[in-house]
Amino acid sequence: MIFPEGNVIQVADGVFLRQGVDNCAGADLGEGVLIVDAQEDTSVAPIIERAIADTVSKPIRWIVNTNWHRDHIACNPRWAKQGATIITHYSCPPATNERDGKPDITFQDTYVLEVGGRRVELEWLGGMHTPGDIVVYFRWARALHVGDLFGWGLFMQHRWDARSIERTREVLLRILNFDTAHIICGHGPMPTAGHIRRQLEYYNTLLRQVSELKRKGKSLLEVKRSLPPPPDMLDWWRFVDWKHENNIETAYRGL
Ligand SMILES: [Zn+2]
Repeated sequence: MIFPEGNVIQVADGVFLRQGVDNCAGADLGEGVLIVDAQEDTSVAPIIERAIADTVSKPIRWIVNTNWHRDHIACNPRWAKQGATIITHYSCPPATNERDGKPDITFQDTYVLEVGGRRVELEWLGGMHTPGDIVVYFRWARALHVGDLFGWGLFMQHRWDARSIERTREVLLRILNFDTAHIICGHGPMPTAGHIRRQLEYYNTLLRQVSELKRKGKSLLEVKRSLPPPPDMLDWWRFVDWKHENNIETAYRGL
């Protein structure tokens, strides 16, 4: 899968994306730009600011953090100083500090921002990856930003109890339920709805296979040997490098 890092693309009318290991999406809301996710590395900030100047040429007025991990929030303070309002889920750490920035607006289930005739809908889909993940739907463009809820094959759930497994299925099904023409994720290339569907299928199949083999007394190494990566997923972004084996391992230990 070819992934040109550092490319700035127009996803749809008024929706831009600077592609990278850490993606940075932007939407033109008339009076300013809304940024989704604020990177891990603050040295990228001037590059993103230049990209905005070259495309939309408006100030950064809002930042939405799809989760509160370090790789999504690093440029918060810098852009807040430039006048941006930080929006995220209310479960983000209360003791936010100077390094991470401090949210101005938090919400529990949904939050709608309607500016310049454009409607941005935020929805909480936490409990799979972190307690506070949110997705961002740019309604006019039918574009959905799913943050880290899709990881190109990687199991993104943080716990392995029955509820987290159930929640992972719920979250992926909810994502598939959106009316989308474009999907953006936190890291790597843009997936299609077909990729999300395949992820759910892969998740269910691998969990079933691993638990069956474990029940038969197979060791982790034996399970890894008997479950090669699915041929149709071999070209998924960074999948065969480590993700498939990592999934088997976390499922084996967790189930
Ligand atoms: Zn991330």
